[in-house]
Amino acid sequence: MDDGDPIADLVKLLVRLPGVGEKSARRIAFHVLGADPEYARALGQSVATLSTRVRRCGACGAFTSRDLCAICADPRRAVELLCVVARPMDADAIERTRAFAGRYHVLHALLDPLGGVGPAEFPLTPLIDRIQRDGVREVILATPTTVEGEATSLYLADALRGVGVAVSRIASGVPHGGDLEFTDPITLGRALEGRRSL
Ligand code: ZN
Repeated sequence: MDDGDPIADLVKLLVRLPGVGEKSARRIAFHVLGADPEYARALGQSVATLSTRVRRCGACGAFTSRDLCAICADPRRAVELLCVVARPMDADAIERTRAFAGRYHVLHALLDPLGGVGPAEFPLTPLIDRIQRDGVREVILATPTTVEGEATSLYLADALRGVGVAVSRIASGVPHGGDLEFTDPITLGRALEGRRSL
């Protein structure tokens, strides 16, 4: 990195964030520069230590600062109802609907043979182990409605056929090609309620 221009260096890092273009990156850089130095230090430290302070929940794979996330540690959440999502932020999106009282399983992957995730690389075993260990009775597939998300849903429906669970897919309503995180809670809540069995 060029030591000559710290602002340009920061802008280069900021534009790699999702949704941040060159113009916003410059605004953020100048804002941080003009703000209380204590704020800049706290911001930097928060970012720098994030990966050591946050880990994956030992049960579901969501991000948490403890061994178990708040949902897995909550005895009121139904263990027999499991919602399978691709990413932690998708579980967050479903939580915001307040329409789901079960638990989550975060894949951290989608089936994408061209991108290097074929059935051999796909983390199927931890999901099946969890279903059997927790006595799960219904699995709701809430992978995104993208090509990879649909392929993953079909693959899982097939793979779980012999496991003795009901398998359903969240209903349409989540726009095709849409990310769960950008779907409003009401639409996503309806998609969850209107799930169809596979
Ligand atoms: Zn968890």
